[in-house]
Amino acid sequence: MEERIERIKQQLYAHNYKLTPQREATVRVILENEEDHLSAEDVYLLLKEKSPEIGLATVYRTLELLHELKVIHKINFGDGVARYDLNAEGADRFHHHLVCVQCGTVDEILEDLLGDVEKKVEKTFNFKINDHRLVFHGICYRCKDEE
Ligand SMILES: [Zn+2]
Ligand SMILES: [Zn+2]
Repeated sequence: MEERIERIKQQLYAHNYKLTPQREATVRVILENEEDHLSAEDVYLLLKEKSPEIGLATVYRTLELLHELKVIHKINFGDGVARYDLNAEGADRFHHHLVCVQCGTVDEILEDLLGDVEKKVEKTFNFKINDHRLVFHGICYRCKDEE
């Protein structure tokens, strides 16, 4: 955790930003809830428990800054709410998501699986791919078991 905070601090410094206490508190909430795909409101509510003085507008600005600097990713699962997500360290592609249309659970696929698809797209469209987003919508194993 501390090492990741330190690296994020360096990323901010590299762009002439400081990891202020409020920014650091925001980063910690995201790291502590890494698998939860938090929205800005979720981050705000969790932050308020520890830092009651922090405002929603500050949280929004911090999240946008972290997103611009590519520290966190922004993703939308089709419900119109922007959610924030961290990529696995060292991964050069964003992980995929499985969204259950019944219970709303979001699971992650960390294996890339798209190497061949990327090659084909790059060749067919003469397009240099940097990253991709892949969201599957369906019924998760938990809901399937209940049927
Ligand atoms: Zn994710
Ligand atoms: Zn489900």
